Amino acid sequence: MQWMLLGLFLLASAAVGAEGRFLQATGWGGGKPEEIVPQAADVGFDEIIVWNHDPEYLGRLVAVGQKHRIGIYSSIHLGDLAGWAKRCPGVKPPLQELNAEERAALERIRADKTKGKSGYQYGGEPVKGLEVLETPLLCLHDPRVRPFFEEQITDLLRTAGLRGIAMDFFGYQNYRCCRCPTSMEAFEAWHNRHPDLPRDKALDQFSLETLVDFVNVLSRYARSARADAKVACHVYPVFLPEPLYGNRLDVDFCGQTAAWYFEPFWSYEKIRAYTRVICGEEKKHYARPEGVAMIGVYTQPQRYPVKSPERLTKELQAILDGQGDRLQVCSLNDVLKDPATRRVFRRLLRRSDSAGGAATETAEAGRSGNR
Ligand SMILES: [Zn+2]
Repeated sequence: MQWMLLGLFLLASAAVGAEGRFLQATGWGGGKPEEIVPQAADVGFDEIIVWNHDPEYLGRLVAVGQKHRIGIYSSIHLGDLAGWAKRCPGVKPPLQELNAEERAALERIRADKTKGKSGYQYGGEPVKGLEVLETPLLCLHDPRVRPFFEEQITDLLRTAGLRGIAMDFFGYQNYRCCRCPTSMEAFEAWHNRHPDLPRDKALDQFSLETLVDFVNVLSRYARSARADAKVACHVYPVFLPEPLYGNRLDVDFCGQTAAWYFEPFWSYEKIRAYTRVICGEEKKHYARPEGVAMIGVYTQPQRYPVKSPERLTKELQAILDGQGDRLQVCSLNDVLKDPATRRVFRRLLRRSDSAGGAATETAEAGRSGNR
Protein backbone atom coordinates (compact mmCIF):
# COMPACT_ATOMS: atom_id res chain seq x y z
CA MET A 1 0.00 0.00 0.00
CA GLN A 2 2.78 2.42 0.95
CA TRP A 3 4.66 1.60 -2.25
CA MET A 4 1.52 2.25 -4.23
CA LEU A 5 1.08 5.61 -2.55
CA LEU A 6 4.72 6.47 -3.20
CA GLY A 7 4.25 5.42 -6.83
CA LEU A 8 1.19 7.64 -7.15
CA PHE A 9 3.07 10.54 -5.56
CA LEU A 10 6.01 10.11 -7.97
CA LEU A 11 3.61 9.94 -10.92
CA ALA A 12 1.89 13.09 -9.76
CA SER A 13 5.20 14.92 -9.30
CA ALA A 14 6.42 13.85 -12.72
CA ALA A 15 3.21 15.03 -14.36
CA VAL A 16 3.78 18.61 -13.29
CA GLY A 17 7.17 20.08 -14.15
CA ALA A 18 9.80 21.00 -11.61
CA GLU A 19 8.90 23.83 -9.20
CA GLY A 20 5.21 23.45 -10.06
CA ARG A 21 5.61 24.76 -13.58
CA PHE A 22 3.91 23.61 -16.75
CA LEU A 23 5.43 20.91 -18.96
CA GLN A 24 4.20 22.53 -22.13
CA ALA A 25 2.66 25.84 -23.09
CA THR A 26 0.97 26.54 -26.39
CA GLY A 27 -0.19 29.98 -27.50
CA TRP A 28 -2.95 30.69 -30.00
CA GLY A 29 -2.17 33.83 -31.96
CA GLY A 30 -0.26 35.20 -34.89
CA GLY A 31 1.82 38.06 -36.23
CA LYS A 32 5.23 38.73 -37.70
CA PRO A 33 7.38 35.62 -37.09
CA GLU A 34 10.51 37.69 -36.34
CA GLU A 35 8.60 39.52 -33.60
CA ILE A 36 6.26 37.05 -31.95
CA VAL A 37 8.47 33.93 -31.96
CA PRO A 38 11.39 35.31 -29.92
CA GLN A 39 8.96 37.06 -27.57
CA ALA A 40 6.94 33.86 -27.06
CA ALA A 41 10.12 31.86 -26.48
CA ASP A 42 11.29 34.42 -23.94
CA VAL A 43 8.07 34.08 -21.95
CA GLY A 44 8.43 30.28 -22.05
CA PHE A 45 6.01 29.12 -24.73
CA ASP A 46 6.87 25.91 -26.56
CA GLU A 47 4.36 26.08 -29.40
CA ILE A 48 2.35 28.60 -31.42
CA ILE A 49 -0.91 27.87 -33.23
CA VAL A 50 -1.92 30.25 -36.02
CA TRP A 51 -5.05 30.32 -38.19
CA ASN A 52 -3.02 31.44 -41.21
CA HIS A 53 -2.85 28.95 -44.13
CA ASP A 54 -0.45 30.88 -46.39
CA PRO A 55 2.43 28.47 -47.19
CA GLU A 56 4.95 31.28 -47.54
CA TYR A 57 4.03 32.70 -44.11
CA LEU A 58 3.98 29.26 -42.50
CA GLY A 59 7.40 28.44 -43.97
CA ARG A 60 8.86 31.62 -42.43
CA LEU A 61 7.14 30.99 -39.10
CA VAL A 62 8.47 27.41 -38.97
CA ALA A 63 12.01 28.58 -39.84
CA VAL A 64 12.04 31.24 -37.11
CA GLY A 65 10.33 28.78 -34.76
CA GLN A 66 13.09 26.24 -35.27
CA LYS A 67 15.71 28.79 -34.20
CA HIS A 68 13.84 29.35 -30.94
CA ARG A 69 12.60 25.76 -30.47
CA ILE A 70 8.97 26.75 -30.93
CA GLY A 71 6.75 24.22 -32.72
CA ILE A 72 4.18 25.59 -35.17
CA TYR A 73 0.63 24.41 -35.88
CA SER A 74 -1.86 25.78 -38.38
CA SER A 75 -5.51 25.62 -37.40
CA ILE A 76 -8.49 24.61 -39.48
CA HIS A 77 -11.96 25.71 -38.33
CA LEU A 78 -15.65 25.25 -39.16
CA GLY A 79 -16.03 29.03 -39.45
CA ASP A 80 -13.68 29.16 -42.46
CA LEU A 81 -16.12 30.58 -45.01
CA ALA A 82 -13.28 32.46 -46.74
CA GLY A 83 -11.43 29.17 -47.20
CA TRP A 84 -14.61 27.61 -48.57
CA ALA A 85 -15.10 30.44 -51.08
CA LYS A 86 -11.51 29.98 -52.29
CA ARG A 87 -11.66 26.21 -52.58
CA CYS A 88 -15.24 25.86 -53.81
CA PRO A 89 -15.84 29.04 -55.85
CA GLY A 90 -19.49 29.59 -56.72
CA VAL A 91 -20.68 26.86 -54.31
CA LYS A 92 -22.83 28.17 -51.47
CA PRO A 93 -21.26 27.06 -48.18
CA PRO A 94 -23.41 24.45 -46.40
CA LEU A 95 -24.05 26.32 -43.15
CA GLN A 96 -25.49 25.10 -39.87
CA GLU A 97 -29.05 26.22 -39.21
CA LEU A 98 -30.88 27.45 -36.11
CA ASN A 99 -34.52 27.32 -35.03
CA ALA A 100 -36.64 30.45 -34.61
CA GLU A 101 -35.81 30.89 -30.91
CA GLU A 102 -32.08 30.54 -31.59
CA ARG A 103 -32.26 32.97 -34.53
CA ALA A 104 -33.94 35.49 -32.23
CA ALA A 105 -31.12 35.03 -29.70
CA LEU A 106 -28.58 35.61 -32.49
CA GLU A 107 -30.33 38.84 -33.52
CA ARG A 108 -30.41 40.03 -29.90
CA ILE A 109 -26.70 39.29 -29.41
CA ARG A 110 -25.74 40.96 -32.70
CA ALA A 111 -27.79 44.05 -31.89
CA ASP A 112 -26.25 44.42 -28.40
CA LYS A 113 -23.45 46.96 -28.85
CA THR A 114 -22.76 47.45 -25.12
CA LYS A 115 -19.34 46.48 -23.77
CA GLY A 116 -19.52 42.81 -22.76
CA LYS A 117 -22.86 42.37 -24.61
CA SER A 118 -24.83 41.98 -21.34
CA GLY A 119 -22.95 38.94 -20.07
CA TYR A 120 -22.64 37.13 -23.42
CA GLN A 121 -20.00 34.38 -23.17
CA TYR A 122 -18.92 34.23 -26.85
CA GLY A 123 -19.11 30.46 -27.28
CA GLY A 124 -18.28 29.60 -23.67
CA GLU A 125 -20.84 28.24 -21.20
CA PRO A 126 -23.72 30.75 -21.09
CA VAL A 127 -24.45 32.23 -17.67
CA LYS A 128 -27.88 33.65 -18.42
CA GLY A 129 -30.46 32.69 -20.98
CA LEU A 130 -30.18 31.25 -24.44
CA GLU A 131 -26.98 32.02 -26.32
CA VAL A 132 -25.63 31.04 -29.72
CA LEU A 133 -22.32 31.68 -31.46
CA GLU A 134 -22.27 34.78 -33.64
CA THR A 135 -19.96 33.13 -36.19
CA PRO A 136 -21.74 31.02 -38.83
CA LEU A 137 -20.30 27.50 -39.00
CA LEU A 138 -20.15 24.89 -41.75
CA CYS A 139 -22.38 21.88 -41.22
CA LEU A 140 -20.25 18.87 -40.36
CA HIS A 141 -23.01 16.50 -41.52
CA ASP A 142 -22.87 17.81 -45.09
CA PRO A 143 -20.83 15.30 -47.11
CA ARG A 144 -18.88 18.07 -48.85
CA VAL A 145 -17.37 19.46 -45.66
CA ARG A 146 -15.06 16.60 -44.75
CA PRO A 147 -13.22 16.55 -48.12
CA PHE A 148 -12.91 20.34 -47.87
CA PHE A 149 -10.92 19.96 -44.65
CA GLU A 150 -8.97 16.95 -45.93
CA GLU A 151 -7.73 19.07 -48.84
CA GLN A 152 -6.74 21.83 -46.43
CA ILE A 153 -4.89 19.37 -44.20
CA THR A 154 -3.01 17.90 -47.17
CA ASP A 155 -1.95 21.38 -48.30
CA LEU A 156 -0.96 22.57 -44.84
CA LEU A 157 1.18 19.52 -44.15
CA ARG A 158 3.23 20.31 -47.29
CA THR A 159 4.98 22.97 -45.20
CA ALA A 160 8.12 21.13 -44.13
CA GLY A 161 8.70 21.25 -40.40
CA LEU A 162 5.14 22.21 -39.47
CA ARG A 163 4.48 20.32 -36.25
CA GLY A 164 0.88 19.67 -37.13
CA ILE A 165 -2.72 20.70 -37.52
CA ALA A 166 -4.91 22.31 -34.91
CA MET A 167 -8.70 22.27 -34.82
CA ASP A 168 -10.85 25.11 -33.54
CA PHE A 169 -14.56 25.99 -33.83
CA PHE A 170 -15.50 22.33 -34.31
CA GLY A 171 -18.91 22.40 -32.71
CA TYR A 172 -22.46 23.65 -33.12
CA GLN A 173 -23.53 27.28 -33.48
CA ASN A 174 -26.39 26.67 -31.00
CA TYR A 175 -24.08 24.57 -28.71
CA ARG A 176 -26.27 21.47 -29.24
CA CYS A 177 -27.00 20.38 -32.81
CA CYS A 178 -27.48 21.50 -36.39
CA ARG A 179 -31.03 21.94 -37.62
CA CYS A 180 -30.39 22.03 -41.39
CA PRO A 181 -32.31 19.48 -43.54
CA THR A 182 -29.17 17.36 -44.12
CA SER A 183 -28.52 17.07 -40.38
CA MET A 184 -32.17 16.40 -39.55
CA GLU A 185 -32.34 13.63 -42.15
CA ALA A 186 -29.19 12.01 -40.74
CA PHE A 187 -30.63 12.35 -37.25
CA GLU A 188 -33.94 10.67 -38.19
CA ALA A 189 -32.02 7.71 -39.64
CA TRP A 190 -29.91 7.53 -36.46
CA HIS A 191 -32.97 7.74 -34.22
CA ASN A 192 -34.58 4.87 -36.16
CA ARG A 193 -31.61 2.75 -35.17
CA HIS A 194 -31.99 3.84 -31.51
CA PRO A 195 -35.78 3.85 -31.08
CA ASP A 196 -35.67 3.47 -27.28
CA LEU A 197 -34.12 6.90 -26.73
CA PRO A 198 -36.46 9.86 -26.24
CA ARG A 199 -36.13 12.40 -29.04
CA ASP A 200 -34.22 15.10 -27.11
CA LYS A 201 -31.75 12.61 -25.63
CA ALA A 202 -31.33 11.02 -29.05
CA LEU A 203 -30.56 14.39 -30.66
CA ASP A 204 -27.90 15.10 -28.00
CA GLN A 205 -26.36 11.68 -28.49
CA PHE A 206 -26.42 11.87 -32.30
CA SER A 207 -24.90 15.36 -32.25
CA LEU A 208 -22.13 14.32 -29.83
CA GLU A 209 -21.26 11.10 -31.68
CA THR A 210 -21.14 12.72 -35.10
CA LEU A 211 -19.08 15.68 -33.82
CA VAL A 212 -16.58 13.36 -32.11
CA ASP A 213 -16.39 11.13 -35.20
CA PHE A 214 -15.81 14.14 -37.44
CA VAL A 215 -12.85 15.36 -35.40
CA ASN A 216 -11.44 11.85 -35.07
CA VAL A 217 -11.71 11.12 -38.78
CA LEU A 218 -9.85 14.35 -39.63
CA SER A 219 -7.27 13.66 -36.93
CA ARG A 220 -6.57 10.21 -38.40
CA TYR A 221 -6.52 11.73 -41.86
CA ALA A 222 -3.75 14.13 -40.76
CA ARG A 223 -1.69 11.21 -39.45
CA SER A 224 -2.23 9.28 -42.67
CA ALA A 225 -1.13 12.31 -44.71
CA ARG A 226 2.09 12.63 -42.68
CA ALA A 227 2.86 10.00 -40.06
CA ASP A 228 4.60 12.38 -37.64
CA ALA A 229 1.97 15.13 -37.86
CA LYS A 230 0.51 16.09 -34.49
CA VAL A 231 -3.07 17.16 -33.96
CA ALA A 232 -4.03 19.72 -31.34
CA CYS A 233 -7.44 21.20 -30.70
CA HIS A 234 -9.47 23.50 -28.53
CA VAL A 235 -12.96 22.20 -27.74
CA TYR A 236 -15.09 25.20 -28.77
CA PRO A 237 -17.84 26.35 -28.91
CA VAL A 238 -19.20 24.63 -25.82
CA PHE A 239 -21.33 21.50 -26.33
CA LEU A 240 -23.93 21.98 -23.60
CA PRO A 241 -25.14 18.37 -23.20
CA GLU A 242 -21.54 17.39 -22.26
CA PRO A 243 -19.13 20.34 -21.98
CA LEU A 244 -16.03 18.23 -21.23
CA TYR A 245 -16.43 15.69 -24.04
CA GLY A 246 -12.87 16.35 -25.25
CA ASN A 247 -11.37 13.17 -23.85
CA ARG A 248 -13.40 11.30 -26.49
CA LEU A 249 -11.20 12.90 -29.16
CA ASP A 250 -8.35 10.85 -30.62
CA VAL A 251 -6.01 13.83 -30.99
CA ASP A 252 -2.52 14.34 -29.59
CA PHE A 253 -3.19 17.45 -27.51
CA CYS A 254 -6.77 18.13 -26.49
CA GLY A 255 -7.30 21.62 -25.16
CA GLN A 256 -10.44 22.17 -23.12
CA THR A 257 -11.43 25.36 -21.35
CA ALA A 258 -10.28 25.43 -17.73
CA ALA A 259 -10.66 29.20 -17.20
CA TRP A 260 -12.83 31.22 -19.58
CA TYR A 261 -12.31 34.87 -20.53
CA PHE A 262 -15.36 36.75 -19.39
CA GLU A 263 -17.11 37.88 -16.24
CA PRO A 264 -18.22 36.32 -14.06
CA PHE A 265 -14.71 34.79 -13.99
CA TRP A 266 -14.78 31.11 -13.17
CA SER A 267 -14.31 30.16 -9.52
CA TYR A 268 -10.98 28.60 -8.59
CA GLU A 269 -12.91 25.50 -7.47
CA LYS A 270 -14.45 25.16 -10.93
CA ILE A 271 -11.03 25.66 -12.57
CA ARG A 272 -9.52 22.91 -10.40
CA ALA A 273 -12.48 20.57 -10.96
CA TYR A 274 -12.45 21.05 -14.76
CA THR A 275 -8.67 20.59 -14.89
CA ARG A 276 -8.97 17.30 -12.99
CA VAL A 277 -11.18 16.02 -15.83
CA ILE A 278 -9.26 17.68 -18.70
CA CYS A 279 -5.85 16.37 -17.64
CA GLY A 280 -6.71 13.66 -15.10
CA GLU A 281 -9.10 11.78 -17.42
CA GLU A 282 -7.17 12.38 -20.64
CA LYS A 283 -6.70 8.64 -21.34
CA LYS A 284 -10.29 7.57 -20.59
CA HIS A 285 -11.10 6.71 -24.21
CA TYR A 286 -7.75 6.65 -26.07
CA ALA A 287 -4.13 6.09 -25.17
CA ARG A 288 -2.92 8.93 -27.38
CA PRO A 289 -4.31 12.21 -26.05
CA GLU A 290 -2.61 14.54 -23.62
CA GLY A 291 -5.14 16.80 -21.93
CA VAL A 292 -4.40 20.51 -22.11
CA ALA A 293 -5.99 23.15 -19.87
CA MET A 294 -6.97 26.26 -21.83
CA ILE A 295 -6.96 29.68 -20.18
CA GLY A 296 -8.51 32.75 -21.79
CA VAL A 297 -6.52 35.98 -21.59
CA TYR A 298 -7.43 39.35 -23.06
CA THR A 299 -5.59 42.53 -22.21
CA GLN A 300 -7.81 44.98 -24.11
CA PRO A 301 -9.83 46.79 -21.42
CA GLN A 302 -11.72 48.82 -24.03
CA ARG A 303 -13.26 45.58 -25.38
CA TYR A 304 -13.23 42.90 -22.67
CA PRO A 305 -12.70 42.56 -18.91
CA VAL A 306 -9.03 42.18 -18.06
CA LYS A 307 -7.77 39.64 -15.53
CA SER A 308 -5.36 41.30 -13.08
CA PRO A 309 -1.90 39.75 -12.60
CA GLU A 310 -3.10 38.47 -9.20
CA ARG A 311 -6.21 36.90 -10.74
CA LEU A 312 -4.18 35.28 -13.55
CA THR A 313 -1.62 33.91 -11.10
CA LYS A 314 -4.40 32.33 -9.03
CA GLU A 315 -6.11 30.86 -12.10
CA LEU A 316 -2.83 29.32 -13.27
CA GLN A 317 -2.17 28.04 -9.76
CA ALA A 318 -5.66 26.50 -9.67
CA ILE A 319 -4.84 24.68 -12.94
CA LEU A 320 -1.58 23.39 -11.44
CA ASP A 321 -3.43 22.39 -8.26
CA GLY A 322 -5.90 20.43 -10.41
CA GLN A 323 -2.87 18.52 -11.80
CA GLY A 324 -2.88 20.45 -15.05
CA ASP A 325 0.51 19.87 -16.66
CA ARG A 326 -0.05 21.33 -20.15
CA LEU A 327 -1.43 24.76 -20.95
CA GLN A 328 -3.05 26.46 -23.93
CA VAL A 329 -3.32 30.24 -23.87
CA CYS A 330 -5.47 32.39 -26.10
CA SER A 331 -4.57 34.99 -27.08
CA LEU A 332 -0.79 34.73 -27.17
CA ASN A 333 -0.60 38.28 -28.52
CA ASP A 334 -2.54 39.69 -25.58
CA VAL A 335 -0.02 38.06 -23.23
CA LEU A 336 2.99 39.33 -25.19
CA LYS A 337 1.92 42.95 -25.43
CA ASP A 338 1.20 43.50 -21.72
CA PRO A 339 4.33 43.56 -19.51
CA ALA A 340 2.53 42.64 -16.26
CA THR A 341 0.70 39.71 -17.91
CA ARG A 342 3.93 38.61 -19.56
CA ARG A 343 5.67 38.46 -16.17
CA VAL A 344 2.92 36.26 -14.70
CA PHE A 345 3.31 33.69 -17.47
CA ARG A 346 7.08 33.94 -17.49
CA ARG A 347 7.23 32.92 -13.82
CA LEU A 348 5.20 29.76 -14.48
CA LEU A 349 6.30 28.90 -18.02
CA ARG A 350 9.92 29.84 -18.27
CA ARG A 351 11.75 26.79 -19.54
CA SER A 352 14.35 25.76 -17.00
CA ASP A 353 16.90 25.03 -19.75
CA SER A 354 16.90 28.60 -21.08
CA ALA A 355 19.77 30.78 -19.98
CA GLY A 356 19.50 34.25 -18.50
CA GLY A 357 15.90 33.95 -17.36
CA ALA A 358 16.27 35.62 -13.98
CA ALA A 359 18.45 38.44 -15.32
CA THR A 360 16.02 39.27 -18.14
CA GLU A 361 13.06 39.16 -15.77
CA THR A 362 14.70 41.70 -13.45
CA ALA A 363 15.59 43.96 -16.37
CA GLU A 364 12.03 43.72 -17.69
CA ALA A 365 10.55 44.54 -14.29
CA GLY A 366 12.80 47.60 -14.18
CA ARG A 367 11.76 48.73 -17.66
CA SER A 368 8.05 48.40 -17.09
CA GLY A 369 8.43 50.12 -13.70
CA ASN A 370 9.73 53.19 -15.54
CA ARG A 371 6.58 53.54 -17.65
ZN1 LIG B 1 -26.53 20.72 -40.71
